Amino acid sequence: MKETLKKILAKTDLFVYENSVDEAEGTACAMVRNSNEKLLAVAGPKADLFKGSLENGFLLCPLTNENAEALQTLFPYTRPKSHKGHAFTMGLGDRLGLATPGHIRALRGHDIYPVFAQQSIRELNLTHRTFRDVISAASFNVFQEGYKSGFGADGDHLKTKDEIKYALESGCTMVTLDCSEKINTKAAKFTDDEVNAAYSELPRDVREHYENTYLGKDLPILGRVDEPELRRFVIVFWKAVDHAIECYKYIDEIKTVDVDFELSIDETLTITTPAEHFIIGNELHNAGITPISCAPHFTGQFEKGIEYAGNLTAFERDFRVHQEIAEHFGYKLSLHSGSDKFAVFSTVARVTKGNVHVKTAGTNWLEAMRVVSEVDPSLYRKAHKYAIEHRPEAEKYYHVSTNVSEIPDIDLQNDAYLPEYLNLPASRQTIHIAYGLLLENEWFRKEFFRCMFENEDLYYAFLERHIGKHIRMLTSD
Ligand code: ZN
Repeated sequence: MKETLKKILAKTDLFVYENSVDEAEGTACAMVRNSNEKLLAVAGPKADLFKGSLENGFLLCPLTNENAEALQTLFPYTRPKSHKGHAFTMGLGDRLGLATPGHIRALRGHDIYPVFAQQSIRELNLTHRTFRDVISAASFNVFQEGYKSGFGADGDHLKTKDEIKYALESGCTMVTLDCSEKINTKAAKFTDDEVNAAYSELPRDVREHYENTYLGKDLPILGRVDEPELRRFVIVFWKAVDHAIECYKYIDEIKTVDVDFELSIDETLTITTPAEHFIIGNELHNAGITPISCAPHFTGQFEKGIEYAGNLTAFERDFRVHQEIAEHFGYKLSLHSGSDKFAVFSTVARVTKGNVHVKTAGTNWLEAMRVVSEVDPSLYRKAHKYAIEHRPEAEKYYHVSTNVSEIPDIDLQNDAYLPEYLNLPASRQTIHIAYGLLLENEWFRKEFFRCMFENEDLYYAFLERHIGKHIRMLTSD
């Protein structure tokens, strides 16, 4: 059937993605494109799973969520799966639904299990997408490339049971639970007297539980935890710990496939101390829970889209202790905001021995803007100015420390200079956090997606180079 479909398609003016053509149950599918959009061509008895228009000898189907589901049914490798058992796993968030082929090319030759579908609720809101949209895009892209080694789908930074339900019902195979709203961040800055006062107001059983478990005990890795430290931990974290345990049990109740559970405490104001990480890990352990990974807030600045800022020796010291704790409880560390943090990758690779989860996202959008800066200077100029003008709005969603005054005036630059803006930290961050605001504008959206459609190979090449650089540094000894 594969050959038949190829022959039929050769008589049309559709472009056929060679690597996509595949068949199952006597039914052949191929990813194709005309001058406006990508489509799925289907021929064979199972074509009735799909919805499309009947052409001469085949069905031509739009890339809808329904057709993605049909594709997943026919070709199970296009459906996301748990990444349990894979040492090195990597989140490759794709806010545009266009990046996965580039990621697949970057991964070639490496033993890395990718999580191609990875979005937070914040990202979904800013891009007006659903989890199903994100997973469907990953499925079509995986099919386009003929990639059959499996991928995951991460509901990233989920905060409530409702969000977990939404993610799992949409097909996510990973839940990254973000407990930040249950963490009493104010209490981290309390004086000892304030800690004592707040502590004495906690439910008695909570206090007794923590005191009996930790005070006067010789704990692995930590040694002893003293009373003031424990009290502070409890008032800051006890609700977050309870929430994590509740959410884990909830996932267990409602899941229909294997789900990877990650606990993230990275979006907090303070860095995670070893004692905090240990007690959280131990509480989960005592509740019978082993997450697949945990993301502490490591020392130093992990800002969006730019290099790590901080003391690398301190980072390695800190990271080693967290690794010891993770190993003790049987999970791996997860590094969030991993985009462009090249300076820490050697340490991450060395200390974890390649048993780690690393998340990237925004850098893939920046590579898309690099394409625009090279092939459509006038669109880039408009978008650049818009991003600078609207940066205060974008800063509501993301914390960044660069200043727009550091960005060279674009009106003084010729077109050849434009890609350079994607290398300078201040303009990188400005473009980075503006994705939602830009994509909301019809003028940008239309021209941008047209540009990306016409230059997909250039985008893949940029991603292969840029994500490839991440992978090289994360996998070398
Ligand atoms: Zn995070």
